[in-house]
Amino acid sequence: MRSGHVRLLPDVRGKVNRKTMREQILELEKEALQELEAVSDLSGLDRFRIAYLAKKGRLTALLKDIASLPAEERPEAGKLANSFKRNLTERFEGARRRLLAKEEEPLSSLDITLPGREPARGHLHPITQVMQEICHIFGRMGFRVVKGPNVELDYYNFEALNIPKDHPARDMQDTFYISENVVLRTHTSPMQVRTMEEQPPPVSVIAPGKVYRRDSDITHTPMFHQVEGLLVDKGVTFGDLKGTLTSFVHQMFGLDTALRFRPSFFPFTEPSAEVDIRCVICGGIGCRTCSNTGWLEILGSGMVDPEVYRFVDYDPEVYSGFAFGMGIERVAMLKYGIDDIQLFFRNDIRFLRQF
Ligand SMILES: [Zn+2]
Repeated sequence: MRSGHVRLLPDVRGKVNRKTMREQILELEKEALQELEAVSDLSGLDRFRIAYLAKKGRLTALLKDIASLPAEERPEAGKLANSFKRNLTERFEGARRRLLAKEEEPLSSLDITLPGREPARGHLHPITQVMQEICHIFGRMGFRVVKGPNVELDYYNFEALNIPKDHPARDMQDTFYISENVVLRTHTSPMQVRTMEEQPPPVSVIAPGKVYRRDSDITHTPMFHQVEGLLVDKGVTFGDLKGTLTSFVHQMFGLDTALRFRPSFFPFTEPSAEVDIRCVICGGIGCRTCSNTGWLEILGSGMVDPEVYRFVDYDPEVYSGFAFGMGIERVAMLKYGIDDIQLFFRNDIRFLRQF
């Protein structure tokens, strides 16, 4: 406990009681040394320095008081005070060296009782997550996942899908050609043909994967992902197509999501339909995302054109089926309300962390 400030007050005759002064010097010395002993770190040592050794410290005040003593009393008090000062300064320096050395030791300042910092955990890319979710939904409906080559023969990418070399539909897709007969696949549809070549009906597969087109803007990237679906069996109708895709939309976007089938054209399906869902941004009122139509296109579909069966030796009189394809980035953009497809491929951790 620190006692009150010790000042040597002159008595009424302008003199200071020598005994009291001697006692007070010794008392202050004892107190200071005890306090210095208890200092355990450098900030405590600095507080000690300010209390005793600084300009307004107690030792400084003591020395000033001695200077105002009568001349004959000064030598003894001065001697005593100087010895106190030397002693205290010496011990102070010793304490400072000891505490400095202690704080430089890294282990002594490591608090092992603090809870650790947990390293950030990674997770799957949003495109992979959506692709897996689509595969799970169709997997539960009995579709098997198949995968095929990214570098594809022109035959599987176009010809066997009823798109011969002079067919105008080839202009719809800006193809990367490796050579005259080899392309980077422009859709996952070649897996329809490859699967039917390998097995007799019934067939129910989905083929997720990367596809490539010479196109790049806010809604297009030169590489993107698609999922292709194919189901062929006896007696498959357009009603089965509608039921399967309606179920998918409800599982992917929610049970209350309205959808519509809109007539369309694809070379390898007949009849064909594009599927729109009620705009997820505006709920159908009309906004920029849906171009004020209230609807958003999410996939293409149709009954497999009998011409395609000709390439794989299926009998179109006995078997029928449907096929569908969708862009995974588009599904992810609609599901999460993202308006720039490029965000998926910039690897910005602030964007990716949100999924
Ligand atoms: Zn809208």
